[in-house]
Amino acid sequence: MSELIRIRSLCKLFDLGHGQRVHAVDNISFDIAEREIVGLVGESGSGKSTLGKTLLGLHDKTSGEVQYRDEILPARYHSADYRRYARRMQMIFQDPYSSLNPRMTVGEIIAEGPRLHGMMTAAQAREASGEWLRRVGLHPDHMSRYPHEFSGGQRQRIGIARALILEPEFVVCDEPISALDVSVQAQVVNLLSELQESLGLTLLFIAHDLSMVRYVSDRMAVMYLGALVEIGPVDAVYFQPRHPYTQVLVASNPEPDPQSERQRVSTSIRGEIPSPVNVPEGCRFAGRCPKAMDVCRRSTPTLKPVEDSLVACHLY
Ligand code: SF4
Repeated sequence: MSELIRIRSLCKLFDLGHGQRVHAVDNISFDIAEREIVGLVGESGSGKSTLGKTLLGLHDKTSGEVQYRDEILPARYHSADYRRYARRMQMIFQDPYSSLNPRMTVGEIIAEGPRLHGMMTAAQAREASGEWLRRVGLHPDHMSRYPHEFSGGQRQRIGIARALILEPEFVVCDEPISALDVSVQAQVVNLLSELQESLGLTLLFIAHDLSMVRYVSDRMAVMYLGALVEIGPVDAVYFQPRHPYTQVLVASNPEPDPQSERQRVSTSIRGEIPSPVNVPEGCRFAGRCPKAMDVCRRSTPTLKPVEDSLVACHLY
């Protein structure tokens, strides 16, 4: 498999004024291969969504590079860049309730992208919208209805159709199931999985639920306070987590099987995630890590190979 996306030393800082900056994405490097699904996990506030949006040019890059095939993407997108790249790199949003324009019919919502990108005439886009509704498990007759007439799961299907009608190669799925009822989460994940397979998509799948990430992903990446702390084959990271943060994250993740969940020894991460404005020196997990050593507070660990994974921890 060749690489589709190369991320090198990517940083995204938000200026708060008075010399204060939020380190939302801090010096992240990894590659995503064609047709690969990388699951990205971490607590709220770890920078997962900011990383996804920065990859797609929805946030300017503060420093570092993102390469898509042979092209280095601009640090700051101008309107021509959106036209050039947005079709190939799409996002499926977390909240299907707020990401669909309530004043547009579902047909208009899905047809808007291909028309704006000059891919189709209005008539072709209307026909393709009906076809995409069918592909995501809805009925073409639903085209004339409005978003409020649909359930959460159906709205997420509409969001998927709106993104995929543009024939993207790379899709960032930003917590696509976390706003949905548990009963429909698996259906939406299965739909994404089927479409990924049939269309040969490359996905960055951002989620809270590690079991769901394990189910869909080839590799799992773990972020903590803006930094990548572990990345590797999904089963290696899930069953043999190396980084102490990943270990606690896996141990605190509820098991989908009720019997295993009853037997699970629940663990929670002590303390709060520190402020991304005042990132601690050395290892940023040191204040919460049960295995912290003196060196951890002095020196920042970098990603090192540990078997098939890369881990940023002084224990290795
Ligand atoms: Fe814990 Fe030190 Fe590893 Fe950080 S570098 S995770 S503090 S052992």
